[in-house]
Amino acid sequence: MQRSSTSRRIGSVKASFQREETQISRRLFYSRDEGGSLDPESAIWADSLTRIYRSGGVDVTVFKNLSLRVCSGERLAIIGESGSGKSTLMHLLGGLDKPSGGRIFFGNQDIVGLSDGPLADFRNRQIGFVWQNPSLLAEFSALENVMMPLLVRGVRPGEAASAAGLLLDEVGLKARAGHRAGELSGGEQQRVALARALVARPKVLLADEPTGSLDFRTGETIMNLLTVLHTSHKLTSVFVTHNLSFAFSCDRVLELKKGSLQTPSETELQTAGVLQDATRLDGGTYV
Ligand code: ADP
Ligand code: MG
Repeated sequence: MQRSSTSRRIGSVKASFQREETQISRRLFYSRDEGGSLDPESAIWADSLTRIYRSGGVDVTVFKNLSLRVCSGERLAIIGESGSGKSTLMHLLGGLDKPSGGRIFFGNQDIVGLSDGPLADFRNRQIGFVWQNPSLLAEFSALENVMMPLLVRGVRPGEAASAAGLLLDEVGLKARAGHRAGELSGGEQQRVALARALVARPKVLLADEPTGSLDFRTGETIMNLLTVLHTSHKLTSVFVTHNLSFAFSCDRVLELKKGSLQTPSETELQTAGVLQDATRLDGGTYV
């Protein structure tokens, strides 16, 4: 396929992104505000969240009145069995889905009440997402993929390209900036996805099983990179992960189980090899 001019390619990147936004808004459920009080210390406060899926005439309640506070600068890990509702929670926190009940505050901004346009703008500016699947545009270069959130925001292409270049450098992929995303390895693609998540300088990073489709060693490298970027970008981060050693290296670990967030079980702690760590346990840093 013949490659088009830069401006046409940028237009195409924007169109792809907007298509994705439309698909996301189609998934929106409905919203309902409930009472509560705001804590200025919390970067994120999910207040009494309920999510019920209606599918084939049957209601599936994933969780009911689930609350979560994430402190500014915290690295929170969420673990839990498959199907326990981790992705549902992350979609709600990220404003990609609406709860059946409850509110979600970022600072003092309730995102549940936002309409589609302001919500998309809020996501673009405030939240970086990383998923198990990097979801890059395969025909576009690594640099163009990273530029995308800035172009959608209306940043000039030259400015977006230099910001994207800096981020690719941070994730160790400067030399591959011009390579098509489809030609990169799984680990490299996830690095590009990380750069794309952070190029708009969000305050919050939400990562849902970011190493779930990578081999162990590559996964470790990505986890280490996430840790470095959390600090250098002064982020508040929520990680869903099955990697217990990574989870227990975070500031706090919560297990989503039977519709509520709980202290990880003794088995989880033993598996992660942290049960003997009496200081941390007594300090109560895991919940
Ligand atoms: P996890 O990420 O922990 O594996 P999910 O949040 O993906 O779990 O799913 C939690 C529960 O919600 C599962 O029982 C799943 O089948 C159900 N679920 C998820 N998405 C939908 C949907 N769009 N419609 C109906 N049920 C859903
Ligand atoms: Mg999931």
